[in-house]
Amino acid sequence: SFCIHQIKATKSLNAFITVAEKEAEDLAIQSDVRIKNGSTRGLLDGLPVAFKDNFNTKGTRTSCGSQMLANYYPPYNATVVQKLLNEGAIMMGKTNMDEFAMGSGTVDSIYGPTKSPWRSGLRYKLWHRNKHRHQASSIMEKEQFSTFTDKDWFIAGGSSGGSAVAVAVGSCFAALGSDTGGSTRNPAARCGIVGLKPTYGLLSRYGLIPLVNSLDVPGILTKTVDDASLLLNVLAGHDPKDSTTVLDPFCPVKISEEPNISGVHVAMPEEYYCPGMSSEVVETWKEIADLLERGGAKVTNVSMPHTQYSISCYSVLNCCEVASNFARYDGIEYGHRATNESSTESLYAATRHEGFNEVVRGRILAGNYFLLKRNYDKYFQKALKVRRLISNDFLGVFEKGVNVILTPVTLTDSPPYSLWKLKDSRQQSSIEDYCTQPANMAGVPAVSFPCKLSSQQLPISLQLMAPCFHEQTLLTVAKWIE
Ligand code: GLN
Repeated sequence: SFCIHQIKATKSLNAFITVAEKEAEDLAIQSDVRIKNGSTRGLLDGLPVAFKDNFNTKGTRTSCGSQMLANYYPPYNATVVQKLLNEGAIMMGKTNMDEFAMGSGTVDSIYGPTKSPWRSGLRYKLWHRNKHRHQASSIMEKEQFSTFTDKDWFIAGGSSGGSAVAVAVGSCFAALGSDTGGSTRNPAARCGIVGLKPTYGLLSRYGLIPLVNSLDVPGILTKTVDDASLLLNVLAGHDPKDSTTVLDPFCPVKISEEPNISGVHVAMPEEYYCPGMSSEVVETWKEIADLLERGGAKVTNVSMPHTQYSISCYSVLNCCEVASNFARYDGIEYGHRATNESSTESLYAATRHEGFNEVVRGRILAGNYFLLKRNYDKYFQKALKVRRLISNDFLGVFEKGVNVILTPVTLTDSPPYSLWKLKDSRQQSSIEDYCTQPANMAGVPAVSFPCKLSSQQLPISLQLMAPCFHEQTLLTVAKWIE
C-alpha cells in the first residue's frame, strides 16, 4: 500500500501507463498471509515490481508507448516477467517509454513525457558508500511531490524513463527496462538509481517486443547494487523459447558486504571523452578513478579507437533491424488498423502512418533504404564490420588483463525538458548514447550507478563494463563504489 500511495502521489511524473492497483492489493494481502504463516512463495514474495510497457504481460495492455499497440492485450507473459511472478513478485503496473523504445528521454510516448523526480533546489536523497543506503531510500517529502506543477522540469532519461522514475520514488522495489543502446543505464543515471544491462544472451528476450534483436537485452533497475544482483540471479538462465540465450548454467552472483577491490584492474578509455561532455562529468570520472586507486585497484588509461564510430554504426544497424521487425505491424494480424480499406497497400500505409510516430517511421524508411540491393554492402555490411571492430576493442582491452572499464554514462546531468525539445530530438538522442552504445555492440555487461550531485543538485552517474558473463566482478566493483 506504500507503493500505491507513492504511485498516486507522483502521478504527475507520468511514470506509469497502466496501474494494476486492485490486483496488486489483492496479491499483497495473500503474500502477507503466506509470510505470516512462514510459507513464502519465493525469493521475491510480496516485492512490488513494474515492467516497461514493451514486456508482454498476459491480459494486461502492452502498448510500447505507441498508438499501434494501444489496445494490445498479450495472451502470454514474457519469460522475465513470468520468472519474477513465479518468485512471488507483485506487478504494480506497466511503465512509460519512448515509442517502441526509440529515444533517450522518455519524451516520445503517446501517453506524454515522463518527468524526472529531481528538481533543482529540491534535493533528492542520494546514498553514499554503503552508509544508510536503505534508510535514505530516496523517498521525497510529501510536500515536495505536491509542487510538481512546474511548467518545466528535468527529463527522466530513456527510453525506460517510466521504470527509472517508478523505482526512484519508491513506487516499486525494482523495475524491468530494456537496453538496446543505453535505455536502461541512461534513465537510471538521470534518476539517481542503479541500471544493469546484463550480458547479451544471459536473460531471455522472449516476450520482450523487439527493437533490435541483436542488441536488445532486458535491463534491471533498482536502488542498490545488491537489489540488482538479487533480480539478476532470479532472471538469468537459458530459455528454450529464446535460442539466443546461453546454455551454460548460470553461476549466481554473490557480493560480500565488504567488497574487496584490491588488485582489480580498472581501465579508463580516453576515447570515451566526447565533445559536449560537461566538466562535472569528467571530474566525477576522475574522482571515482582516484577513489578506486586509493582502494587498491590498478587504474590505467587504455585506447578503444573505434568508439567514435559507434553512433553511426548503431544508427544503420538499428534502422535495418527495425525495417525488418516492424513489417509485422501491417494492421492485419494485430495492432492498430486504419479505416482506409480501398486497397491493401493503402490500408498498410494509413495504418502505419496513424500507428507510428515520426521517429519510428523515419527509422523504417532509413532501414529499407540501407537494405536496398544497391546499398546493402555500402551500409549494412559495412556497419556489421565496424561493429566487429568495436567488439574487438573490448576484447583487446580485456585480453590485457583489464577487469572493468570505467566511463561516464551521459554527457551532462539532466537537461530541462524545454532545452531538450529545442534540439533535434533524434540527433540529441543518439549523441546521448555515446558512452552506452558500445556495450550493446559488444554484448558485454554494463552497469550505471549514481556517484554524486552536480551543481544543479542533479545526479551524475558512471558506468562500469566487464567481459561477457563477468557480472560478478562488475557488480562487486559497483558495490564497492556505492
Ligand atoms: N536511444 C537509443 C535509440 O533510440 C537507444 C534506445 C534503447 O536502448 N532502447 O535507439
